[in-house]
Amino acid sequence: MPRGNSAPTSIVKLEAEPLDIPLIEPFAIATGRVTSARNVLVRVTLADGTVGLGEAAPFPPSGGETQETALAAVRGMAPLVEGYDAAGWRPLAKRLLASFEHQETARAGVEMAVLDALTRVWNTPLFQFCGGVESRVVSDITIPIEGPAHMAELAERYASDGATTLKLKVGTDLDDDIDRVLAVAEAAPDCDLILDGNQGYQPIDAVDLIASLADEEVYPILFEQPVHRHDLEGLRFVTERVGAPVAADESVHTAADALRVARMGAANVVNIKLMKSGLVEAMEIAAVCRAAHLDLMIGAMIESRLAIAAAAHLVAGMGGFRYVDLDTPMLLASDPFSGGYAQDGFIYTLDPSQPGHGVSVEE
Ligand SMILES: [Mg+2]
Repeated sequence: MPRGNSAPTSIVKLEAEPLDIPLIEPFAIATGRVTSARNVLVRVTLADGTVGLGEAAPFPPSGGETQETALAAVRGMAPLVEGYDAAGWRPLAKRLLASFEHQETARAGVEMAVLDALTRVWNTPLFQFCGGVESRVVSDITIPIEGPAHMAELAERYASDGATTLKLKVGTDLDDDIDRVLAVAEAAPDCDLILDGNQGYQPIDAVDLIASLADEEVYPILFEQPVHRHDLEGLRFVTERVGAPVAADESVHTAADALRVARMGAANVVNIKLMKSGLVEAMEIAAVCRAAHLDLMIGAMIESRLAIAAAAHLVAGMGGFRYVDLDTPMLLASDPFSGGYAQDGFIYTLDPSQPGHGVSVEE
């Protein structure tokens, strides 16, 4: 929609502010360690006064953005957003992509706020707007890289809380990682295990890891991003040699990336994250994966209830996501938001009577 139209869904203001939330305990993966979420809260105000909320969640160890760059990027997007109609959310996302390709978390936060505001005006829950396939998702829970004893303790606690799938961060030293996985498997024998290498292995070591675990009769249900994101041949090497399905995560930020993975047979699954691509490109990636018979996973950076609610609405609405890793609000020491979903253990249920993603700032 052209600038200057007077529709009630015309965007009059785009704002950003820091959103700092401490973690319950430090979160370590193969590429780095963080102690708090240093995110960005995005607010979009429409001509009729409706406010939409979005969140950018830069994760410096794997993304290339920080809170400072995301704040600057959102503020820099104002001329591309203010004065335009939120109803034209696809052309708006295209404009943002053209000028801010690598500010992915900032784009995600703005797209999220625009779609929230729009669907609030239209009195439609975001998950129904996205397709209305389901109204609930069941998440796994992630255990960061720590000593085997502490990882086992977390696994036992989560299993007794009702978790059915545990995601383990690995990708450091091969022997240490084998000890970690075996400790968790022993502590939570009834849980399915997802391993996430976060690009930490050489291809041959990744194959060795799965073989060593099989020797101990431990069979992960998924192996995420074992090798460097640019090493698609290495990813294919692993995919062709391990019994477990392999997921491309850091390797896929765009639909074109997903197409390349599919053509090469480099992986069996793609982990989509709003913070890697934005919302519109996430939909495009999902479409490519479905056409190529790649399974879908949804993941997250260190996101609060706000961005996790938006992701839950998107994937429940679109349906067909086999692996759901939307656990990060459970890792945060406080929750500055309310709404978005009702949580029972690891199950998020979405409210069909609540428009938008339904999240509001706690008073
Ligand atoms: Mg991952």
